[in-house]
Amino acid sequence: MPDPATVIGDAELQEETTDVLQRLIRFNTVNPPGDERPAQEFLAAHLGAAGFECELLGAEQGRPNLIARLRGSGAAGPALCYLGHVDTVLADPGEWTRDPWSGDLAEGFIWGRGALDMKSQVAAEVAAAASLARSGWRPAAGELLIVAVVDEEAGGELGARWLTCEHPEKVRCDFLINEGGGDVFEYDGRRYYTVCCAEKGVFRFSVVTHGVAGHASMPAMGDNALLKMAPVLARLGERQPAYRLTGEAQELLRGLGEDPEDPAGAIARLRGFDPLLDVMFEPMLGVTFTPTRISASEKVNVIPSRAELKIDCRVPPGMGEPEVREGIAEVLGEDGFAIEFTERVEGNRSRMATPLMDEISSWLAEREPEAQSVPIVLPGFTDSRHFREAFPDCVAYGFCPQRHQTLREVAPLVHGADERIDVRDLAFATEFFRDLALRLLG
Ligand SMILES: [Zn+2]
Repeated sequence: MPDPATVIGDAELQEETTDVLQRLIRFNTVNPPGDERPAQEFLAAHLGAAGFECELLGAEQGRPNLIARLRGSGAAGPALCYLGHVDTVLADPGEWTRDPWSGDLAEGFIWGRGALDMKSQVAAEVAAAASLARSGWRPAAGELLIVAVVDEEAGGELGARWLTCEHPEKVRCDFLINEGGGDVFEYDGRRYYTVCCAEKGVFRFSVVTHGVAGHASMPAMGDNALLKMAPVLARLGERQPAYRLTGEAQELLRGLGEDPEDPAGAIARLRGFDPLLDVMFEPMLGVTFTPTRISASEKVNVIPSRAELKIDCRVPPGMGEPEVREGIAEVLGEDGFAIEFTERVEGNRSRMATPLMDEISSWLAEREPEAQSVPIVLPGFTDSRHFREAFPDCVAYGFCPQRHQTLREVAPLVHGADERIDVRDLAFATEFFRDLALRLLG
């Protein structure tokens, strides 16, 4: 492996990545409508000038995906892909202290929608890759791919899903780095970096109660289906299904110095140390139920004969409807309602013991010897699922290391007001992307 500092120095790298992120933020890519083309053309020009082969491909004219490729000598080796999305969620300028599309550099932060989710990572990936290519570096074996997609915030139909379905040969890869991890947190005197190895599935269902319609002026005339939801809601407020730890969740607890055989004890200690850790990590340990919508009579003067409560249910990878049904029996019992599944998407994962994980761990060990990495199971999901589905052998992790802004500082800013990234963290991530390419591709 070449010495990274001789390829490109850290200060130069920081300048480039800051500039790329500021420009990216200034393209308004709120999805919908996304309108990502100008941002993608900017990235393609930046990577193209550095020596990458760039292609813009999309299902819609205004919303192309970018595939940028840096070929090596031709020697067989892995394809390493840095993935990111350039669309963002909306921002209400009235809630921000700065214009969400300013890209201002102030107080040591770059401000704007996407500064964390995830134009920062895209900027770090692009700046690292472009600077490597510009220096004349080429992979000794394998190749480096930069893929910037559209439409992630609305499900990825036009982005990662479209690309992996329509052009799999163009984005096929062995190792993939995406969003979902890299945040740092402190627990019991140690610092930990998350590496996202798995994502939960979505098994949404409705709880339906039945009764008999009647005139609402006489409460006892019918049989009110809505009132039958009262005990259902009360039980949902009291508890979640029992823990069901996947291998990743066990490894997480072990990494934190906790006993995977005693998840309740581990969660109690996490809560005692920092309640936010409990909020964020407990969903990784099993099936969760969150009631989000309820509906009953269409008319205010009619006693409802049917009521429906929608539950957003998230399920660890490797589990499915049987585990959800067991959870329903545990939390709600068996009587007084019917269950209707409306969505069944299984979770996804990559193996934890891989050369990619080894490189992440050894890079961290060099940069911050007192810290360690731990695997996490994302309660939500990212575009990694499309790549894992299309390429079953692909090892995909979420990892964009941040050492100054911690998980507890970052969490409320993602999709929130005043989203911003510490410029030192942006530089730290860029160095990681530079170093990882050098380590894996030579
Ligand atoms: Zn994102």
